[in-house]
Amino acid sequence: MKRIVVLGGGFAGVAVARRLEKKLRRDEAEIAIVSRDNFTLFTPMLPEVSSGGLEARHVATPIRAQVHRTTFVLGEIATIDLDARSVEARHPLTGEVTRLDYDHIVLALGSVTSTFNIPGVAEHTLPLKTLEDAETLRNRIIAALEQAVVTPPGPDRDRLLTFVVVGGGYTGCECAGELVDFFRSIIRYYAGLKLADVRMILIESGKTLLKDLPAAMGRYTTRNLARRKVELILGDGVAHIDEGGITLQSGTRIATANVVWSAGVRPSPVLKDLPGVEHARNGGLVVNRDMSVIGRDGVWALGDCAWIPAKADADLSDVTAWYPATAQHAIREGPSLADNIVAALRGEPTKPFRYTALGTMASLGARRGVAALPGGFVLTGFLAWFLWRTYYLARLPGLDRRLRVTLDWTLGLIFPRDIAELRLYTERGQQQAARDAGLLPSATPTPSP
Ligand SMILES: Cc1cc2nc3c(=O)[nH]c(=O)nc-3n(C[C@H](O)[C@H](O)[C@H](O)COP(=O)(O)OP(=O)(O)OC[C@H]3O[C@@H](n4cnc5c(N)ncnc54)[C@H](O)[C@@H]3O)c2cc1C
Repeated sequence: MKRIVVLGGGFAGVAVARRLEKKLRRDEAEIAIVSRDNFTLFTPMLPEVSSGGLEARHVATPIRAQVHRTTFVLGEIATIDLDARSVEARHPLTGEVTRLDYDHIVLALGSVTSTFNIPGVAEHTLPLKTLEDAETLRNRIIAALEQAVVTPPGPDRDRLLTFVVVGGGYTGCECAGELVDFFRSIIRYYAGLKLADVRMILIESGKTLLKDLPAAMGRYTTRNLARRKVELILGDGVAHIDEGGITLQSGTRIATANVVWSAGVRPSPVLKDLPGVEHARNGGLVVNRDMSVIGRDGVWALGDCAWIPAKADADLSDVTAWYPATAQHAIREGPSLADNIVAALRGEPTKPFRYTALGTMASLGARRGVAALPGGFVLTGFLAWFLWRTYYLARLPGLDRRLRVTLDWTLGLIFPRDIAELRLYTERGQQQAARDAGLLPSATPTPSP
């Protein structure tokens, strides 16, 4: 009986396990998933959680509900020993260590928020990457309004009411659009505050929003957000951030108590010291076209933590194009990688991963969106937003989750968003964010000698 261990229960890891369950006979291999959360987070809907449009649990599908005969181990990766072919996982609450030996290991640990080593980012901004991040952000926004409403008009109150999103990619634009909707919905509860008192700023170091997508999407997004009173600062990067606010590279100073950091991600730091593998410049693992890790037999990687050559016919030494780190790709890479493990177990040839993206979509809130469709066609406005909702609802794992999200959306048509401020997640979330940012010692695995 062969043992296959998948590290990471996100889009990629679960897709691998599900396909392996389908393709392998029960007596052929044992499958295990190790992950620090017992759910798969549906990140496309995370901005809506941060703005109270969706309930946090409704975008998190338990891993155990998605697999049937895969063993699930809840744990933070403590060691990965590629020579001894074993991994150790530490239980997040008890600290108990579980050891798993493997014949094949799949590295699907995703990515973490990148601070780009800009001073103050790790200490003074709120990321939007995990469920804790989204819930912390929602609570921090409400806390800022609660504080502002008892602060006399003046610079202190203005600082509390200035909200800045850094990063003009689709996450940053979605987040800014969602937060505008959030303020519009809840400002009525704060007597003495007006919508005009709230300042929403989006900062992008490049010259345009959504710069990696068709220009028409960026243009529409710029117009839409500007019309909804989002102040756009383009072509100016963040120099440093402190408790009082942000200083931009141009020297512009913005006094703010609330900064959302959505400027980019980097592959899981857990993998950065793994010996005998090829690392890309941001720490990701460079893999062959069949997603096997270069130079390591039985080691595979995919999703946000892997660099997968995008041109299947190019020479590996000459690859300049890589598949992007998106959920859309991760869920296609999973089955393809699983098929290759099955082929390897049965002594058959593996196949390169090939996929042509279907397009990209972003929801801007206020029933508006942008979408790049196959064939270079760009859709904007209500239709794009409707397509976004329909498509992502259909992709959300779990019928019960789909129904819960539909209900959230329906109730959102009738009731204002919830302003109950919860302080449940913050400690764990902040510790995790601090570990990912390198401020706290991480549970970085001990590499094999
Ligand atoms: C706010 C936001 C919105 C997005 N919107 C879109 C979108 O609209 N469309 C799209 O295609 N993509 C979107 N993405 C990108 C998408 O989320 C990622 O590309 C995708 O999640 C990658 O899948 P993955 O399985 O590689 O990583 P993940 O889904 O991040 O999964 C990694 C898994 O590994 C686990 N893990 C990590 N470290 C450890 C550790 N040390 N020990 C144990 N377990 C660990 C995590 O808990 C997680 O379960 C968005 C991302 C964000 C943050």
